[in-house]
Amino acid sequence: QQLLARVTAHDAGLGAFLHVDATAALAAAEAADARRAAGESGALLGVPLAHKDIFVTQDMPTTAGSKMLSGYLSPFDATVVARLKAAGTVSLGKLNCDEFAMGSANENSAYKPVANPWDATRVPGGSSGGSAAAVAARLVPAATGTDTGGSIRQPASFTGITGIKPTYGVCSRYGMIAFASSLDQAGPMARSAEDCALLLSAMSGFDERDATSVQQPAQDFHAQMLAAREGATAAQPLKGLRIGLPREFFPAGLSADVAKAVREGLTQLEKLGATLVDVSLPRTELAIPVYYIIAPAEASSNLSRFDGVKFGHRAAEYSDLLDMYKKTRAQGFGAEVKRRIMIGTYVLSHGYYDAYYLQAQKLRRMIADDFQQAFAHCDLIAGPVAPSVAWQAGEQGDDPVKAYLADIFTLPGSLAGLPGMSVPVGFGEGGMPVGLQLLGNYFKEGQLLHTAHALQ
Ligand code: GLN
Repeated sequence: QQLLARVTAHDAGLGAFLHVDATAALAAAEAADARRAAGESGALLGVPLAHKDIFVTQDMPTTAGSKMLSGYLSPFDATVVARLKAAGTVSLGKLNCDEFAMGSANENSAYKPVANPWDATRVPGGSSGGSAAAVAARLVPAATGTDTGGSIRQPASFTGITGIKPTYGVCSRYGMIAFASSLDQAGPMARSAEDCALLLSAMSGFDERDATSVQQPAQDFHAQMLAAREGATAAQPLKGLRIGLPREFFPAGLSADVAKAVREGLTQLEKLGATLVDVSLPRTELAIPVYYIIAPAEASSNLSRFDGVKFGHRAAEYSDLLDMYKKTRAQGFGAEVKRRIMIGTYVLSHGYYDAYYLQAQKLRRMIADDFQQAFAHCDLIAGPVAPSVAWQAGEQGDDPVKAYLADIFTLPGSLAGLPGMSVPVGFGEGGMPVGLQLLGNYFKEGQLLHTAHALQ
């Protein structure tokens, strides 16, 4: 009830929620109380949260931030939603996001932009901007997010919260509306690494309904987070941990305020016993063109299902079937989504496939190999999440390339399918929060959470 009151009081100025269901939330809270009264325990029993509106939910509408899905009601819950529900969490509603998760500022939502709670003239980051703003403004203690090229890490950094994108395949993509299937991953966004560990343990695990779900036993990330390192001491819990700093993550174009906050975070990690080593990820810059070929290619295929026939929006007037498709898609999709469908269709078309898509796939493999070379010299990789703090709303105008370039530090890890986190480390220009990015090798979520927890 307190949180619902906070949502009523503050969300009009934030725009974090696309849908709030007070009745369902109170009923779920009572059900959780009853389970606790019956003797059940569990860290998440009765914990309020809200879901990014890219996860389908049976009891609430799902839009993916798009007009194309206005009024859509899913007949089933996404696996991540179902698992969190089974753990006893109480959903307050659905959170705003960039249309089909395409964006870095939440300004591509077809419904409304989201304000950054630290400074309402600035963006909260994206595409999980509603999730980040809701947690940062303490409207909910936790939220789900998705990260295809940085959409959990970057908004977490811009709003001073903690978020983790697990290894590709750790969380089921079933019921998560697809953007770029080979990159999409779900993850928690919360106030601390500890909360993220509890949420991730409940969200993750093998799901036979997702063909790329990793077949591994359920993980207790909280226990992994708490487990002491060999040789660690109370004062130096990170003793022996080697943290690699890729020189490409500290380029000339990095804002001085972000560099300073990140350096301070690294100094803190050193005090906790970690050693810093120089490494190189030589293809970092290439991650941008590679991602912006592969992600639109997959999006153009995934979004072909929105044709006005099976579900979602359908144009009111049309002359024949082809005209219905055209009008439905022209009306239903926003500018950024259309841009990506066109780029994706182009790079997959006969005659261009070899020149663009195939080259991008080869480079993707090389980017992943670069990480393995780096991990030969370190346990974790650290650097900034984004080149600047959260920028002013409207600042990027209609220059999408500006936003694409700001994804430089999150895209390499996404293309490699590695787990990554954003942990708040300080403040930069305008008093805005700065996150430290930690990237681990495959399935090293426990190590990431342990390190972030020590820092917090
Ligand atoms: N900013 C990136 C994009 O626009 C990443 C988005 C995401 O991770 N969903 O594609």
